Amino acid sequence: MNPKVLIIYTGGTIGMVNDPITGTLTAFNFDHLYQQIPELNRLNVELNTISFEHPVDSSEMNLTYWKLIATMVFDNYAKYDGFVILHGSDTMAYTATALSFMLQGLEKPVILTGSQLPINEIRTDGRENVLTSIEIAAAKKGNGEARVQEVVIYFENNLYRGNRTTKISANAFEAFASPNFPPVANAGIHITYQDIQNTKKINGLQLYTDLDNRVALLKIFPGFNANVYKSLFDFENIKGIVLETFGAGNAPTDKLFDDLIADYIKQGGVVLNITQCLSGSVEQGLYETSSFFQKIGVIGGGDMTTEAAICKLMFALGSSTDKCEIENILKQSIAGELSVV
Ligand code: ASP
Repeated sequence: MNPKVLIIYTGGTIGMVNDPITGTLTAFNFDHLYQQIPELNRLNVELNTISFEHPVDSSEMNLTYWKLIATMVFDNYAKYDGFVILHGSDTMAYTATALSFMLQGLEKPVILTGSQLPINEIRTDGRENVLTSIEIAAAKKGNGEARVQEVVIYFENNLYRGNRTTKISANAFEAFASPNFPPVANAGIHITYQDIQNTKKINGLQLYTDLDNRVALLKIFPGFNANVYKSLFDFENIKGIVLETFGAGNAPTDKLFDDLIADYIKQGGVVLNITQCLSGSVEQGLYETSSFFQKIGVIGGGDMTTEAAICKLMFALGSSTDKCEIENILKQSIAGELSVV
């Protein structure tokens, strides 16, 4: 029996065609996928597709859409061997990360892919991305288990752990990178899978749809004026803040800024410190300029991407109202998003 793969089309460039009248990109009917990629008929895979009623540019993605996608996978989980989610590349890393927290205990692949050029363009990268994603979604080990058992992104020959990925180019075909974690697989003449530890195993798939988006992201810069950001540090409205700091977690020594953070944490807020560098990790206390954070209870976010920090904060705040529990969630690796040293 051929493996079964469900394709979920959410929108993005991959499913767009040029409207000859307006010149803009509009979504095409995904039932016609076989017309665009006739090679699909040659794969030994049984395919079904579901499409968003109104496909969206990925800039429109939000908690409601994430919940919709996660629920589509959860509801169809028993019926399929793998899932391919066609999604715009702009916020694909956020969706993949959110899904990794929302769908815990996966034993089947959930692969997000898309393209930089629409699928009907001659030089499209979409055809290869879709075909290889389907092949990986159907791939099994010798013992019959799925090859990949987590949320991943496939783009331009590489398969990445979703919650380690970030978009690095607005126009190159190689649009993604996973700076702190090696690719899960690479597609050359053969698809080579790395022997990567699966994410934390729990018994059976669990769906978490309660995310709390009362979070803020603050990227500091030299000359930054803490006064401008005063209103952020209000626990009534904002339950958690991701701080994007310099290097290994450093920030300017600024009395007002320090007081704002310390007071916010006393009010009950959580602050997660990640680096604005593309790779590497926060190590609070390594320099004088980060030891204050350590002292007042800012949580070091290790080597998490911004996408991972934001989505994890939403997940942690949605899972509990107890500050200790929230901090505990933030400090552990929930879905392989954080290197635990
Ligand atoms: N703006 C598009 C989107 O993210 C770009 C893409 O699909 O790659 O939906």
